[in-house]
Amino acid sequence: MIKVTCLGAAGSVTGSCFLIENVHGKKVMVDCGLFQGGKQMELRNWRDWDFSPSQVSTLFLTHAHIDHSGRIPKLVRDGFKGRIITSAATAQLCEIMLLDSAHVQEMDARWQTRKNRRRAGRDIKPLYTADDAQASLQYLHPVEEDEMVVVEEGIRARIRNAGHILGSSILELWIRDGEQDIKLVFSGDLGMENQLIVKSPQEIFNADYLFVESTYGNREHKDFATSKEELLDAINYAVFNGEKILIPAFAVERTQEIIYILNEFHRAGRLPDIPIYLDSPLAIKATEIFRQNRKYYDEEALAMVNQGIDPFEMPNLTYTPTTEESMAINEKAGPAIIIAGSGMCTAGRIKHHLKHNLWRKGASVVIVGFQAQGSTGRQIVDGKTTVRLFGEDVAVRAKVFTIGGFSAHADRKNLLKWVGNFAESNPQVFVVHGENSASLDFAQLIHQDLGFKSYVPGWRETLFLKPREFPIEVAPPVLEEAVNLGDDMLQAYQAVSSELDQLQWRIKRADGRIRITEEDIDRLKYIQEELQQILAA
Ligand SMILES: [Zn+2]
Ligand SMILES: [Zn+2]
Repeated sequence: MIKVTCLGAAGSVTGSCFLIENVHGKKVMVDCGLFQGGKQMELRNWRDWDFSPSQVSTLFLTHAHIDHSGRIPKLVRDGFKGRIITSAATAQLCEIMLLDSAHVQEMDARWQTRKNRRRAGRDIKPLYTADDAQASLQYLHPVEEDEMVVVEEGIRARIRNAGHILGSSILELWIRDGEQDIKLVFSGDLGMENQLIVKSPQEIFNADYLFVESTYGNREHKDFATSKEELLDAINYAVFNGEKILIPAFAVERTQEIIYILNEFHRAGRLPDIPIYLDSPLAIKATEIFRQNRKYYDEEALAMVNQGIDPFEMPNLTYTPTTEESMAINEKAGPAIIIAGSGMCTAGRIKHHLKHNLWRKGASVVIVGFQAQGSTGRQIVDGKTTVRLFGEDVAVRAKVFTIGGFSAHADRKNLLKWVGNFAESNPQVFVVHGENSASLDFAQLIHQDLGFKSYVPGWRETLFLKPREFPIEVAPPVLEEAVNLGDDMLQAYQAVSSELDQLQWRIKRADGRIRITEEDIDRLKYIQEELQQILAA
């Protein structure tokens, strides 16, 4: 039996982190991400670990996004000395992402300390420092996609393309359990089919236990072509009004995709002749890593490069790495497109641009990515009339364009199709990395449409995973006439098990408030009696 403890992205989108232990007590992890979106969620980053980091031999990192990698510096500072197995591009992206994250942590701590001192409160230490982040980079251990890696005795792994961002991976993990291997698959974050720049997600056909993301488990994305037109509408709207177009964007992938699309419009002669600023030091560095890693490109992007077109260059596009350059943007009147981070407007230069433009009628704010509950971006999407920026209430008078078709996450349809590939192996599915309602809806859909057992684990819940033959193993052996008994037992066991699943389902649905009806109890009693009868026979 192996144990999997869900320490993040269970019942939430962020904080991805899973601890896996085999019978010999060997521990490996999948992802070590930061919890993001609102104070309550972020407090989890400060908790002590539920395990001893020094005892973990390997961390598999699915991709560089901070909700999957952002607690690595803390893990290393607290004693982790193992290998961080990941793709080459992820390792490269992590360097810039983790240092940037440390910078944000240090700034937050400084700001909080200043605020506290004014009230004679205590000084605040950052979650981790730039030194911690730097120190953690030496443990990154890039491996090739599609190649089997023997991690240690009894543990093998292989990373496959997840099609979500540059270098993102699905993880296949084989863990020896007695005479058998148990195969786990972690989807990581799955991209859309035919997403820009990166290749489509790899199809996988076998798993005993499948952990699948569900960010958009209950939604379908709008059509991509329509979304591109909406982006152009948002640009034209502000250009007509002589105002700015703000695009909050994640530094990795979304930013490059937006530039890629603007480049297409430019070459088609459809983009208004206005300045475009990539105003994010992190995104600028990430774009350089995209340029260096063309082996991850899909055919279309490669064809473009082979024609001598740099998808990330345009005559009007200016990269503004320094603070002075960034501030100068707001001094210039007239329309301009500003792409800046962070993607959920919770940090970074976009906050300054929002402060300067959000209250201006005629400006555009273009939301092109996922906005977590509690984030400033989510408040803007939800139509709040004011949002708080730098301790000030700023009115939302700019027109907000929420464009749903640019997601780097597979939507319900794509997710279900990808999970459906596993049909022959009939895995038990654990639905993770989604807001509770999305995960629950998707779990139900998997059960209904594919017939797989599905379950939404909670935060810090431990799953005990046995080799798949488990129900057959518990059937009593030896006696000849016991063969039928075994079958009956098996059936009764399955009935109880599905009954319990349903109950668990409803309890979760009731959001923790347990509501069991008389009828439920009767059903359980009936099955209990049936079991007793079989046993007495
Ligand atoms: Zn991601
Ligand atoms: Zn994620």
